[in-house]
Amino acid sequence: LLGPDGSLGVTIFEEITTLAGRHGAINLGQGFPDEDGPAELSRLAREAIASGNNQYAPGKGILDLRQAVAEHQQRFYGLELDPEHEVIITTGATEAIAAAVLALTGPGDEVLTFEPFYDSYGAMIGLTGATHTTAALLAPDFMPDLATLEESFSPRTKMVIINNPHNPTGAMFPVEVLAEVVRLAIKYDAVILTDEVYEHLTFGPRHIPVATLPGAADRTLTISSAGKTFSFTGWKIGWLSGPAELVAAARTVKQFLSYSSGTPFQSAIAAGLRMDDSFFTDAANTLAHKRDILADGLRAAGMDVYLPQGTYFINADTSALGITDATALARRLPELVGVAAIPVPVFCHPDGARRTRSLLRFAFCKQVPLLEQAAERLATLQ
Ligand code: PMP
Ligand code: GLN
Repeated sequence: LLGPDGSLGVTIFEEITTLAGRHGAINLGQGFPDEDGPAELSRLAREAIASGNNQYAPGKGILDLRQAVAEHQQRFYGLELDPEHEVIITTGATEAIAAAVLALTGPGDEVLTFEPFYDSYGAMIGLTGATHTTAALLAPDFMPDLATLEESFSPRTKMVIINNPHNPTGAMFPVEVLAEVVRLAIKYDAVILTDEVYEHLTFGPRHIPVATLPGAADRTLTISSAGKTFSFTGWKIGWLSGPAELVAAARTVKQFLSYSSGTPFQSAIAAGLRMDDSFFTDAANTLAHKRDILADGLRAAGMDVYLPQGTYFINADTSALGITDATALARRLPELVGVAAIPVPVFCHPDGARRTRSLLRFAFCKQVPLLEQAAERLATLQ
């Protein structure tokens, strides 16, 4: 991701969203919903603003939200966290990733991710000066090869970043995969950074937080975000939890990234995390329906679909359409048919980019008529 001149360039999300805007295309690229989250949470945020709750929040986040995060981890996963020392609030998951990677890794270290990998991992590993190593996730189910996973670890592996459910593939790792990562992290004494922003957006399998696995909790930092769970991606409220000393290290860095995060949104999200189970299951069921609509549309448009188990995203193989370069296609697609998608090779180093060269990632967190319209437009590609 670092260009030859050390610049970070423009993210693929920015590039494709700009193209979508220019051509009036349906944007199934960047993952954001086209409907607001719960009205009650918006009301609480407006009320917080109206009542003058508008100055800096405490650096580690307001206590009510840190408590709500701890309660959420206990309620859904049986994890015990001390909201005083084991939870911080961040400016989205993005800042939590940045703070953890910058705090805990540096030149001479290796940081391992699966590949494809979410773009900010590569950028932050580049900024911290560590070496980014990868282990491939292989189609059709986008699982790592457990027989060879250890080859990706070395005595220099300082951190392994897991993203589960996984962006961009939509895979969810079963307990065997997570257990092998934990075993190897223990063997090589690596910290596990687990990005679980899609924890509630799952379509069958139950989400398993890495921190619940035996031996994992004392070396695992868990990240999540209100953006995905509550459909408020623009509020940029995320959180990081785990052992006090690792959280403290990330907090030290956070002080100099943003110092603190959006005050009036924090109490609203605390209320969100305390909503009934039905909110979480209804949101996942609605999204599962949208996934199925878009999957049918992509198939009808002549693509092979990898049905995701979680997230906002479907990966579709365009090779049946005679396409060998999904990145070039993605740059032309908004103009060509009025739909925008993200090419999967941008989430990869060169070998992975070759393996995924015909894959496009489509976001289905959109209203059904729009998904249907996008499918009709894509059908004209054939
Ligand atoms: N991690 C993953 C896997 C993501 O898909 C995203 C984008 N939503 C983020 C982190 C960033 O989350 P946020 O918008 O809360 O910063
Ligand atoms: N996480 C979102 C996605 O994968 C994008 C967030 C961003 O624009 N950085 O589409």
